[in-house]
Amino acid sequence: MDYDAIIIGTGIGGLIAGAKLTKEGKKVLLIEQESTPGGYASCLKLSDDYMIDFGLHAMDGLYEKDPKIEVFEDLDIFFNIEFEKILTGFYKFYNERKDFTIPDNEEQAIEKLVEWFPDEEKSIKKFFKTINAITKDTHNIPRSKFMQGIIGPFVPMIFPSIPRWGGKTAGDLFDSHFNNEDLKLALAGTIQYYGDDPYKLSAIIYAIALSTRFKGGTHYIKGGSIKFSYGLVKFIKQHGGTFLFDRVVTRIVVERGKACGVEYISKKESDKKIHKISGKIIIANAPVPQVANELLQGKRHKKFREQINKLDVGHSILNIYLGFNKPPIEIGNTSYTTVVNDPSIISLHQIADNHKGDYEKRNFIFVDFSQIDSMLASSGRSIGVISVVDYIENWGGLSKAEYTAKKKEVAHMFIDRLYKLMPDMVGHIDYYYVSTPRTKVEYTLNPNGTFLGFAYTPKQSGMMRLKNKSPVKNLYFASAWTFPGGGYSSTIWSGWQCANEVLKKL
Ligand SMILES: Cc1cc2nc3c(=O)[nH]c(=O)nc-3n(C[C@H](O)[C@H](O)[C@H](O)COP(=O)(O)OP(=O)(O)OC[C@H]3O[C@@H](n4cnc5c(N)ncnc54)[C@H](O)[C@@H]3O)c2cc1C
Repeated sequence: MDYDAIIIGTGIGGLIAGAKLTKEGKKVLLIEQESTPGGYASCLKLSDDYMIDFGLHAMDGLYEKDPKIEVFEDLDIFFNIEFEKILTGFYKFYNERKDFTIPDNEEQAIEKLVEWFPDEEKSIKKFFKTINAITKDTHNIPRSKFMQGIIGPFVPMIFPSIPRWGGKTAGDLFDSHFNNEDLKLALAGTIQYYGDDPYKLSAIIYAIALSTRFKGGTHYIKGGSIKFSYGLVKFIKQHGGTFLFDRVVTRIVVERGKACGVEYISKKESDKKIHKISGKIIIANAPVPQVANELLQGKRHKKFREQINKLDVGHSILNIYLGFNKPPIEIGNTSYTTVVNDPSIISLHQIADNHKGDYEKRNFIFVDFSQIDSMLASSGRSIGVISVVDYIENWGGLSKAEYTAKKKEVAHMFIDRLYKLMPDMVGHIDYYYVSTPRTKVEYTLNPNGTFLGFAYTPKQSGMMRLKNKSPVKNLYFASAWTFPGGGYSSTIWSGWQCANEVLKKL
């Protein structure tokens, strides 16, 4: 065998798995179809003045009991990467009727929410108890199937939140606590990072998302997410790992029912060969649907293919990156994250339709990197980004000219909406770059341009999510597509778990 493990893709899941395996002395090869590492955890230099971050606004956690701490310490991440704490609160919520900033500290958040919604005092306190209990139970439930088997009948007694909320949605969670729709809308402000419909998004996932942010706040990686990826690349190389960039894996070789290698092609014109390389273990950081539909060939994988193709894929996001020649913090903006709901939205039930409706009314989030030392822009300038729930269908079938024209039109519309909200910014945006769901498909090969893997529905979340181990012997997954899911914390955990599972075999 050429390698102990071959990892397809260098997104966060692939890099974390690679770092752990090389640290434990394994011979590892990572193959990436792009010329740079990171997948979404990557940056693009637009000009001498501006660099944009493709896949990070804010990383949750880094509080005392955050499970990521163990991973970061083991992989020297705190030595290689600097984290910048975001100090402007959780987010500012604005919908014309309400305009306030929710603190990222639980006590202060409760106090403020009670001040803004006095009729809901009891429910607000109960809500925080519920989301904390869900988070505690989910973190404490044993991961091993053996232990789960033993405690199985006692789960409702030991971890009562899990059966109580397991089949429920974020919408159910809000409806069962609150009457005031503006309160629900405010607390659902960052829903687009997890799902496009509160009534399809798992209650457990959104509860954990909120609870962890109220415990540890959020951080940004100084210099952008590419620093995180390059930090891990450095670590892997120092521990003997090898990288191949600009190479697309086209097949996972399976012999006698066991994965034992990959075939890949180079993106370089001069190399037309199909290369074959062997490994004891194959780890796909590449999207699971790609593995099922393209990389695993032949009839014998039909059942797995059918199982995967039945699952719902997560939504995508449209990003309009903005270069400011005067940082918004100097013009009076005080929030890192501003959630803007269209005033026509008066109920949580309207959110899903809003995400599919006119861009002129679609809810958006504005992130202002001038509130922190992001190191993404030259002195006296800064970067911002508008994010909107979006779908590949809105961009997929367009010709090159139509695509360019639509990107321009939509970008100008959102810039105008931002100017209306923050009139002092007018004239200070001197650069923009649009990343659509189509950009994301082209750049990472994720179906639909999703960044979450499979949608976070109750049936596809928590213990119900696809696991690291595939049905093919010696083939594993480490990405947003598998347990626990998408986003930094979850993908880091997926890569970490996968490596530990693989180490038992190597
Ligand atoms: C705009 C945006 C903002 C975000 N903000 C946040 C945030 O603030 N906080 C947060 O926690 N999360 C955020 N996320 C989500 C987070 O970035 C992703 O969930 C995470 O990076 C996914 O990592 P992954 O390991 O699953 O792999 P991916 O990033 O999907 O990478 C997969 C890699 O595999 C490679 N690949 C695929 N197929 C092949 C093949 N056949 N051969 C070789 N290579 C292949 C791809 O090129 C890619 O490099 C954001 C995402 C986006 C898009």
